[in-house]
Amino acid sequence: MSEAIDEKTSCQHLSQIQKVTPSAEGCEDCLRIGDTWLHLRICETCGHVGCCDSSKNKHATKHFHASGHAIIKSFQPGEEWGWCYVDELFFEELPTD
Ligand SMILES: [Zn+2]
Ligand SMILES: [Zn+2]
Ligand SMILES: [Zn+2]
Repeated sequence: MSEAIDEKTSCQHLSQIQKVTPSAEGCEDCLRIGDTWLHLRICETCGHVGCCDSSKNKHATKHFHASGHAIIKSFQPGEEWGWCYVDELFFEELPTD
């Protein structure tokens, strides 16, 4: 079951996307506390690298709540999908410009 979603009109947050440099090779918050993670997400607004919701610390989501930066992208090799936390919208690929 899949629904067709008009990504461009339903998400107002794509304008937050910047050309970002990853803040760390891994979850920067887990690295700081010496913890581990499962998968990585990168904030498309500031480059914060955080761990996914399957990781116990959920630092990517915490970063969204702390910063209001709505758009993340997978930081896993070969994965291009993105996510808007506010609209809970999945993007197979984020617009690059
Ligand atoms: Zn949005
Ligand atoms: Zn983390
Ligand atoms: Zn951010």
